[in-house]
Amino acid sequence: MQRWPLRQVAFIGLGLIGSSLARLLRERGLVERITAASRSRQTLATAQQLGIIDIGYANPADAVRGADLVILAMPVNATEAVMAAIKPALSQSAVVTDVGSTKGNVVAAAEAVWGHVPATFVPGHPIAGSEQSGVMAGRADLFAAHKVILTPLTHTSADAVALVTALWQAAGAEVMTMRVEQHDAVLARTSHLPHLLAFSLVDTLAQESDNLDIFRYAAGGFRDFTRIAASDPRMWHDIFLANRDAVISALDAFEAGTQRVRDAITSNDSDALLGMFTRARAAREHFTHMLAGTAYAKSMTHTKELRFTVEPGGNFTGRARVPGDKSISHRSIMLGSLATGVTDVTGFLEGEDALATLQAFRDMGVVIEGPTAGRVRVHGVGLHGLKAPPGPIYVGNSGTTMRLLSGLLSAQPFNAVLTGDASLAKRPMERIAKPLRMMGADIQTTGERGTPPVTITGNAALKGIHYDMPIASAQVKSGVLLAGLWAQGTTSVTEPAPTRDHTERMLRGFGYAVKTEGATANVQGGGKLTATQIDVPADISSAAFFLVAASIAPDSDLVLEHVGMNPTRVGVINILRAMGGNIEVLNSREVGGEPVADLHVRSAQLKGIDIPEDQVPLAIDEFPSLFIAAACAEGVTTLTGAEELRVKESDRIQVMADGLLTLGVSAVPTADGIVITGGPIGSGEVISHGDHRIAMSFAMAGLRATGPIVIRDCANVATSFPDFIGLARRCGLRIRASEHDLH
Ligand code: NAP
Repeated sequence: MQRWPLRQVAFIGLGLIGSSLARLLRERGLVERITAASRSRQTLATAQQLGIIDIGYANPADAVRGADLVILAMPVNATEAVMAAIKPALSQSAVVTDVGSTKGNVVAAAEAVWGHVPATFVPGHPIAGSEQSGVMAGRADLFAAHKVILTPLTHTSADAVALVTALWQAAGAEVMTMRVEQHDAVLARTSHLPHLLAFSLVDTLAQESDNLDIFRYAAGGFRDFTRIAASDPRMWHDIFLANRDAVISALDAFEAGTQRVRDAITSNDSDALLGMFTRARAAREHFTHMLAGTAYAKSMTHTKELRFTVEPGGNFTGRARVPGDKSISHRSIMLGSLATGVTDVTGFLEGEDALATLQAFRDMGVVIEGPTAGRVRVHGVGLHGLKAPPGPIYVGNSGTTMRLLSGLLSAQPFNAVLTGDASLAKRPMERIAKPLRMMGADIQTTGERGTPPVTITGNAALKGIHYDMPIASAQVKSGVLLAGLWAQGTTSVTEPAPTRDHTERMLRGFGYAVKTEGATANVQGGGKLTATQIDVPADISSAAFFLVAASIAPDSDLVLEHVGMNPTRVGVINILRAMGGNIEVLNSREVGGEPVADLHVRSAQLKGIDIPEDQVPLAIDEFPSLFIAAACAEGVTTLTGAEELRVKESDRIQVMADGLLTLGVSAVPTADGIVITGGPIGSGEVISHGDHRIAMSFAMAGLRATGPIVIRDCANVATSFPDFIGLARRCGLRIRASEHDLH
């Protein structure tokens, strides 16, 4: 086993890659002596002058004599000749590695020279570089934060792999291993093909008669796209020839793609064109999230902490439309996709969960334009038009998407796998899989303990069932009813306690009959959904912060537009009114099956109440803001029967009680609720524990505070309320956001 620092490292080739690695070894003191061979004397002389190497040779055999590690860093097509030259001079224990951009031909070269691939040869490829070449272009930090792929064979020595891995890790690179063929196929698509296209495009255009005009007027896009055509022609010539089969197969796939674009343009097939382009645009970001196993919203990946600071006082006035309802945003994409015709959606919530649903349907071949400022156009494919997704469907952090799609996918003629981010991977999925199995679905929860991934085998003939839900869940009810659209006969679900009925309402909005009798909803299979327009109602959960703000701030007068008034969600209005809130419901109407209204709110002297327990499920998400209302009310407000609040995004009872106490308000948590005594709100720093609703609730408390309130850990606000700060400021809240380094 070699030890650091190594006694001698030999480089064959000292261009961009070789000299970068040599610089790094030197700077980090990882080797005592560096030798090298190159074709030109000039290269070696320069390297010696720069102090990168100790001694240079014209003959590779001289350079490798006595070396512990030999690094082949010349063009790939020279590999066989170089290996033949160094073979007699290599010491027995020397480890040999290379940096070539192709691996199949390098391994074949070793085989040709030795008769087998030596166990001490570790094929490698740094995925880093630039358009420059030569010894002067090298940089010690070239590989930092880049990937290096090693393609050891089954018999490659583990010690040799460990040495080469340590070398690249010292360069700051992330080392991964792959099979040789896999490497060449992947690189052919991600690196070789784009270079080939750039070279070919520039060459083609340069040969046109008006080529001067083309290049003179070329805009940034052309320059970006063709940047890599400035790469070393000789090196790329070698790479395309060395990786011929994989490059040709990648080119075939690409040509089939351009042919599809060509056909779509020729035949004016606007849907097909839009489909390809919207999918492509979304794909880059989607795959980034998928690979990292992260959520969609950028706020979730912040490395900095977001804080809100609210200066005290002010009134809360004007007209505002808060973001669209999340549940309805999800369903507008799902049912729009399954409908016949084009569904235009406005007011769509561009939060990560609904975006996951949108991407899932794109993966299944639905053309979806947008979202642009809340507008989405869904080109429905009908109940039988979904296509098999190209791979697992990644739904980020969205439990709604996973459970509803489980139902919908159980009835499709193709197989599908649903995966999600790390936190969704822990959520129970058996509760939806079980009733679907009773309907005849072939569905497995392949994670430990009935968790994702969910694997669904297509072509199951579903039959209608009656399902008595053991736990009240709108997601399970919706998943079963959606499967029922394809099932034979009637599918009915009875819920033990009322849950949100957005799916039933929106199905009706799309012209699909859903019957509800008491606690039971049922659908008949074999119907049809017809496209419609959906102006997604503003989310009453987001409106709640504004309702409370305008109620507690003096001289306030606010109209909240187009608020969803689903009877399963209006608890916050009922409770505020019971506390003396002044809320008028104007222009009640129905949109896509959902009741909607404008709410006119004015300041009121609120009084403490015992919150009726029958209102608790109807306001379950709104309690953080209602606690602020209680702090501003005269007297005592008591909440009971709300133990569920302890297992939301945070323990909302404890976290709210802690914050209220910090601000000088008397708040006593109980097992299933809280007792809050109204009184003056002071100033201080409260921690939201990443819970968006708690952050926004404390922000509104600033309207009645005696000093500034700082709220920590607010990045997640963007996931449910993208422009909270902007909208709250326009109404009069003196709030600003700032970023702070995480410690
Ligand atoms: P480079 O800057 O052009 O350097 C090539 C070096 O190899 C030069 O020192 C050259 O010597 C020497 N050389 C050329 N032909 C030789 C031969 N027949 N025998 C011995 N030495 C020879 O190229 P590079 O960018 O460092 O690329 C080197 C290797 O790294 C290639 O296999 C390439 O596939 C791989 N790679 C490149 C990149 C990239 O972006 N550039 C990225 C990853 C991997 P003289 O200067 O003396 O002629």
